[in-house]
Amino acid sequence: MAPKLFIPGPVQVSEKTFAAMCQPMIGHRSGDFKKLYAAIQPQLQELFGTKQPVFLSTSSAWGVMEGAIRNLVGSGKVLNCMCGAFSDKWFDVSKKCGKEAVSLQVEWGQPIRGEQIREKLSEGGYDAVTLIHNETSTGLMSPIVEIATVMRDFPDVCLIVDSVSSFSVVPIPMDELGIDVLLTGSQKALAMPPGLALFAASEKAMQRAATVKGRGYYFDFLEFKKNQAEDMTPSTPTIPHIYALQSKLEDIFAEGIAARHARHAELNEMVHAWVRRHGFEFFAPEGYRSKSLTCVANNKGIDVPALLAKLKSRHSLIIDGGYGKIKGQTFRLSNMGDETAATIAVLLAALDESLPA
Ligand SMILES: *Cc1c(COP(=O)(O)O)cnc(C)c1O
Repeated sequence: MAPKLFIPGPVQVSEKTFAAMCQPMIGHRSGDFKKLYAAIQPQLQELFGTKQPVFLSTSSAWGVMEGAIRNLVGSGKVLNCMCGAFSDKWFDVSKKCGKEAVSLQVEWGQPIRGEQIREKLSEGGYDAVTLIHNETSTGLMSPIVEIATVMRDFPDVCLIVDSVSSFSVVPIPMDELGIDVLLTGSQKALAMPPGLALFAASEKAMQRAATVKGRGYYFDFLEFKKNQAEDMTPSTPTIPHIYALQSKLEDIFAEGIAARHARHAELNEMVHAWVRRHGFEFFAPEGYRSKSLTCVANNKGIDVPALLAKLKSRHSLIIDGGYGKIKGQTFRLSNMGDETAATIAVLLAALDESLPA
């Protein structure tokens, strides 16, 4: 049997989700497809906390992350909030799109704070801010409510939020917070295979996009909107993923959104208790730790590759040995997706057994 993934994405995919993907193919301009997309739309809107339509992009999250830059940043500047590998990369992507990008860099493992954003935006001339809500590389969650509150003082600036590893883990009510683009991907918190990105855009974002040149075609928000109005996507979507999404939404609404949030908090706390019990530290400070994964600081200097090797060979489990420049100095344990108290207990027992004596 293939080893089970406890890395923070892709995560384990259930048999039910896989089975849902294997339904007969349908035409993407057919009534059957339109029925499928229309049927899942209300649940998607509820999960996003928005009255706006939710768009489906056949790409990984980066497609929409780049698309949001190309749609919302015109001749003004984009402020890229940077505190880890994914948020740092968004700055590079903004520059590669030919935009005037400004970095708000804090140390890896530290959160982005509202007042830091205010200070930058007060310079004027900004079109948008990018924020990774849950920086997966460092296990850090930035304070979204605090940041969204500051953004209200800058009504001309769009707030673009990546929730790839926090979507459906904690509440991120898009409309209430005034988020202009909220995006996520399929293979992390949603526990589907990689290949689908989901996003919604505020009216302000759509109005801005209409004025921005060079949006391209594949990620043009106006194309998404025009097609969604007829329950379609601009180009042929990954229909198997949309079947998987329908099945996943069934699971999420059967469990209940609040219960899903509570389950993630409980499992995350189980992992945190394990970290404390073994005298490890957390890479992120108290109050800003992710609820979907734990980035453990290797303060004890254990041989992380050896730990990974033991977990894989003896327990058929795969964890992550740290991302980018903090490889080996950290390791990451995911509690995303379909995990339960029982499956996390199996992971923690295997970790107990695999740690050096
Ligand atoms: C994984 C991840 C991404 C990138 O997702 P891709 O599927 O590789 O495009 C972006 N943001 C965050 C926070 C992630 O964890």
